[in-house]
Amino acid sequence: MPPVGSSIRSPARYPGAPPSAPIRTIVLDPGHGGHDPGTSHYGLKEKHLVLDISRRLRAALEQAGYTVVMTRDADQFIPLGGRAGTANRLRADLFVSVHVNANRNPRISGVEVYYPRLSTVGGTSAWPPAVTASEIGVASTTVKQVLWDLVLGRTRFQSRRLASSVCRSLRDGLEVPCRAVKPARFVVLREAWMPAVLVEVGYVTNQTEASRLAGAEYRQAAARAIADGLLSYIRSLGLEHI
Ligand SMILES: [Zn+2]
Repeated sequence: MPPVGSSIRSPARYPGAPPSAPIRTIVLDPGHGGHDPGTSHYGLKEKHLVLDISRRLRAALEQAGYTVVMTRDADQFIPLGGRAGTANRLRADLFVSVHVNANRNPRISGVEVYYPRLSTVGGTSAWPPAVTASEIGVASTTVKQVLWDLVLGRTRFQSRRLASSVCRSLRDGLEVPCRAVKPARFVVLREAWMPAVLVEVGYVTNQTEASRLAGAEYRQAAARAIADGLLSYIRSLGLEHI
């Protein structure tokens, strides 16, 4: 349904509309940490790789003028629910979770980027933090779920665009296949109120990709490519307002 009374100056509030506020704060979420190493192959631990890539990504984004907050900046365990919670509390504009991948098939390599999938009624999503049962006078899980799906629906379209932009940029920057841009029901994504993506930078089960990821230069190139993907997404929002 087309929005009524929308104009170029005040973007319509429907799923798929560009955010009306500029992007300022970006939360980076290096996966795993502490007693949770993530995947480990060829002597590499996911928790170390993704922290290093995230720090490099932070530097690139700060240089571009953005405020960047990391869910962890040390080898420490953060519960899944606390990760998007950090971004929600800060009212961050984008949430980017960084991981590396593993597969039983060692031939598989390349990049995948996920965005939140609408959950089905009956799931166990947390409350949107700004809404309480007493405020709306209901406490049913179904209604909670429907509300949460509305919140996610608003940002999901932007998340998908962001995911495509990051995957394309990694493909071009690292010369690896962009294997997939797809929805997933990861807890870290579905609890985020803002456009959110989870980036799988490569497969540590693939010997070639593992040896590339072991090198600082490659991790720097990965961070640069993710930053470029984020920036081109942000630029595309700007163009829509002209
Ligand atoms: Zn992971």
